[in-house]
Amino acid sequence: MRVAGKVALISGGARGIGAACARLLAREGAAVVLGDVLEKEGRETETEIIEAGGRALFAPLDVTSEEDWGRAVQAAVARYGKLDVLVNNAGISNRRGLEEISIEAWDRVMGVNAKGVFLGTKAAIPEMREAGGGSIINISSIYGLVGSEGSGAYHASKGAVRLFTKATAIQYAGDGIRANSIHPGFVDTLLTAQFHSLPGVRENRLSRTPLGRLAAPEDIAPGILYLASDESSFV
Ligand code: NAD
Repeated sequence: MRVAGKVALISGGARGIGAACARLLAREGAAVVLGDVLEKEGRETETEIIEAGGRALFAPLDVTSEEDWGRAVQAAVARYGKLDVLVNNAGISNRRGLEEISIEAWDRVMGVNAKGVFLGTKAAIPEMREAGGGSIINISSIYGLVGSEGSGAYHASKGAVRLFTKATAIQYAGDGIRANSIHPGFVDTLLTAQFHSLPGVRENRLSRTPLGRLAAPEDIAPGILYLASDESSFV
């Protein structure tokens, strides 16, 4: 029970990495709030966690909406009394090159992936301060560290998350609030399923992954668990 008694809000918790993280945190003793635009999938994950003996609550959340964030944080506090952990995981991809991407698509990717992290952090900090501290875990990407042959907006958004995390960590360390970013490599989820099924893509990504396989969401969740727990209190 590595996060016993903690309350965690996970954006994009309905499926993929967010759902795997929610299942693991709940198994390790946390109450989890799943914030997502996908209500059906979110409620299914909520039910699955409760049936496995965990504590879970689905909260409708579009991460680009400050009002939604306010409601999701308050739902967590109303149900479970506080907020200790925020996992800013919701994200979307766009693989168009720099000259092909429209302004609307750029704004959408930056809105969900970068502004969403800012709004979530802003909404969570007062409650974490109230709780005496907390841990903010932002899911960036390997593509927030290096460039690639496509995906200009995605790289920009994930790079923004990396540095925003560093700024958050420094500005709120004095409140006992830690902030870290995670940079997964290539993970098989519905975000990547279509792209990975294109001819040659999976092989190309495998050839650039020294471990010789792509990740499952369950490969990423333990890193989130560590950062959510007090084991990482100096990280
Ligand atoms: P996924 O598509 O399976 O899950 C993403 C979740 O975010 C979905 O439940 C979706 O409904 C939700 N979401 C999307 N827009 C939202 C919004 N506006 N408000 C609230 N929720 C919203 O994808 P995943 O692979 O599990 O991705 C999770 C995170 O991991 C993303 O930030 C992604 O960029 C990052 N990531 C993924 C990979 C990969 O290879 N799959 C690699 C590195 C980083």
